[in-house]
Amino acid sequence: MIYADNAATTKMSPRALEEMCRTAGEIWGNPSSLYGLGQAAQEALTDARERMAKILGAEAKEIYFTSGGSESDNQAIRSCARLGAAKNRKHIVSTAFEHHAVLHTLKRLEKEGYEVTYLPVHENGIVTPEEVAAAIRPDTCLVTIMFANNEIGTIEPIGEIGAVCRAAKVPFHTDAVQAAGHVKIDVKEMNIDLLSLSAHKFHGPRGVGALYCRTGLPLYPLIEGGAQERNRRAGTENVAGIRAMVTALEEMTANLDRNAAYVRSLRDRLIDGLSAIPHSALNGDPEKRLPGNVNFCFEGIEGESLLLLLDQAGICASSGSACTSGSLDPSHVLLAIRRPHEVAHGSLRLTLSEENTEEDVDTILQEVPRIVTYLRGFSPIWQDLQSGRRQHLL
Ligand SMILES: *Cc1c(COP(=O)(O)O)cnc(C)c1O
Repeated sequence: MIYADNAATTKMSPRALEEMCRTAGEIWGNPSSLYGLGQAAQEALTDARERMAKILGAEAKEIYFTSGGSESDNQAIRSCARLGAAKNRKHIVSTAFEHHAVLHTLKRLEKEGYEVTYLPVHENGIVTPEEVAAAIRPDTCLVTIMFANNEIGTIEPIGEIGAVCRAAKVPFHTDAVQAAGHVKIDVKEMNIDLLSLSAHKFHGPRGVGALYCRTGLPLYPLIEGGAQERNRRAGTENVAGIRAMVTALEEMTANLDRNAAYVRSLRDRLIDGLSAIPHSALNGDPEKRLPGNVNFCFEGIEGESLLLLLDQAGICASSGSACTSGSLDPSHVLLAIRRPHEVAHGSLRLTLSEENTEEDVDTILQEVPRIVTYLRGFSPIWQDLQSGRRQHLL
């Protein structure tokens, strides 16, 4: 089997898995308990918090552990919205191609009386700092823009956007779920006020993540209950998951440059090879993209059929995002970069990791063109394109 869907989730690293099992087996007390077993868990948590802070360029007291990226996004946005409402500021700036954890939270806030400006995304999948600056108003209470897109892999100019927000004194949140562990992040240098990350996107376990919130910016809880996470996130801490997350993030950070160079070389070979398929196009900027992300549109086919046949060939890939697969709507990300509906339906996302090999790329480069040709043979749309009854869009 070839796993090329690392943007959906990643396989746990052996070290993270070992740390999770060891912690669950040995440090299983409740960190809130006062006896030694509980205190050992509390210490393990403190140590994990310090180590994660160090990686992000933050302070330990600015890190809150959560259940993952979706929860961190929800809390960051809702907290800033509540703070804004208290100051009569109910305008938010975001983009049209955020993850649904952000977009659906914003849609809910719109129903609650907030106004959201969704910045358009350029055809290369990039938002410019100038457009962010122009969208900020006196009543803006939050700018939330993702670090790297989960479908097309484009990396946004986060440092520049952070500088714009800091100058305007508007809190800046970034969903860095796809970036953490894969791209260098320094929250202070980049003027990031809030940042979401999730362990299972960098070889940690599913169901655990973190939210960084800068000192001085109030953070309201999403989950009420006990006093865990300094009253910002109730619930007995997932100590084993948190320890494994930090182990995975440290491992990824230590090997970041080497991994990126290797994965990028696989990615670029894949992009070159797939570009040879007639009437295909790479989605997103070829340079400003995550090392492992390949995303193509192929005219005249349905992404779902392509995925099924790739699965039969032993290749795990994705079309659109995992959360929307099964629905007939084309990806909001591909529509945001102005791919026409017909073309957006025929998309393929292959996301590589350090575990992939040159042979994996060879196999994918054999299978994808074969399957695309095969599917086009059955496609009435492709017949129309061939006969000239329909114009090629790619
Ligand atoms: C996966 C993902 C999320 C959601 O994270 P979970 O930990 O699965 O809740 C949010 N944003 C982005 C960009 C993602 O890729």
